[in-house]
Amino acid sequence: MTLSFEQALQSVREKLEGARPAPATETLPLRDLSGRVLAEDAIADRDYPPFHRSTRDGYAVRCADLSSLPALLRMVGEVRAGEHFAGKIAPGQCVQIMTGAPLPPGADAVVMIEHTRVRDSQVEVQQAVDRWDNVVRQGSEAAAGSTVLRRGRRLGAGEMGLLASLGKANVNVFRRPSVAILPTGDELVQVEQSPEWFQIRNSNAVSLAAQVAAAGGIPRPLGIARDEKTALRNLIEEGLGTELLLLSGGVSAGKYDFVEQVLREIGAEFYFQSVAIRPGKPLVFGRARESFFFGLPGNPVSTFVTFELFARPAIGMLGGAEFESPIFLRARLAKPFRQKPGLTAFLPARVALQNAHPVVDLVGWQGSGDLVGVAAANCFLVVHPAQTELAAGDWVDVLRKEQ
Ligand code: AMP
Ligand code: MG
Repeated sequence: MTLSFEQALQSVREKLEGARPAPATETLPLRDLSGRVLAEDAIADRDYPPFHRSTRDGYAVRCADLSSLPALLRMVGEVRAGEHFAGKIAPGQCVQIMTGAPLPPGADAVVMIEHTRVRDSQVEVQQAVDRWDNVVRQGSEAAAGSTVLRRGRRLGAGEMGLLASLGKANVNVFRRPSVAILPTGDELVQVEQSPEWFQIRNSNAVSLAAQVAAAGGIPRPLGIARDEKTALRNLIEEGLGTELLLLSGGVSAGKYDFVEQVLREIGAEFYFQSVAIRPGKPLVFGRARESFFFGLPGNPVSTFVTFELFARPAIGMLGGAEFESPIFLRARLAKPFRQKPGLTAFLPARVALQNAHPVVDLVGWQGSGDLVGVAAANCFLVVHPAQTELAAGDWVDVLRKEQ
């Protein structure tokens, strides 16, 4: 049975959520956290911001003093970022304040310096402010004791900055899953080798290893499996010692496509063997010996796209992350496009801003073997099964190329 793109993605999500054991954890210094997955909730150790913080250079005031304008206030001091004002602002008084400084007690707003004029030791305020204008109130970003990041969150620069502000010098994260990479094909030679005219360099092992690492896994390349059942079986058995085995090639209907046959012989359970997508229709997903596996179609564009759609979120979940769905953004189509109904297409394309609007245009490509097309692309145009005719200017879905 052929699943739709959405059904296949849902199947991956359900199988991984249902079967995944919690990965082991390790403690890492803050600087090594990029791309890792949090294994503990991160709790605010104090209020954020820890005090009413001025967001402007100006004067800390009491709003009640500005009922008639211009208002004349007596300046009784100054407060800079990194300091605090010792006294309390009384009626008719103000304190000069810098961005990032704590609001002095008694004040309830900040007037921007641009809206004032200094006259002797008096400050003339020309514009009214509402309570808490130009101030971020204590605890408004996060109250002390509240959870600011949950276990399962993937960490990037922003999350690392937040953990740094919480004082988390060392952080508990999940260990990364090992992902075996097994390209199959009698035509394949190593990248270093010079191929005969009828041979092909094994590019999928390289692109897959980069994709696995970017998805948060540890790539374990197993070499090349020939289209011969015993050799293939031995390497598959080896790959099933990891959390996830990625096979490429050998899943079509050809006479020497043995991948599914060998997996079946060793007792694999198949969740799907065909998905209504282009490229990548003969995509296989299942489980054997406690490991999950994908049989990715061997054409390099198919391998690339099916990894991004299905293997990336699977690796995330094996690494303790919450389900991270591929996200489609929207852009306007540059040129009209037609396709037959029934498949979700993911076509190499470029999105760029034109007059401040995102516009997407297909890159010329020669089908699912064309890595030149993938390299020229910065996204994939997503055409849904019912979208048989699209006009220039139509809003369409776009999948960003992460790699
Ligand atoms: P297959 O899925 O085995 O029928 O392969 C489909 C196409 O992808 C064929 O043209 C293969 O030569 C090509 N191909 C398969 N595996 C790789 C690989 N590891 N690197 C580059 N091309 C490949
Ligand atoms: Mg093959």
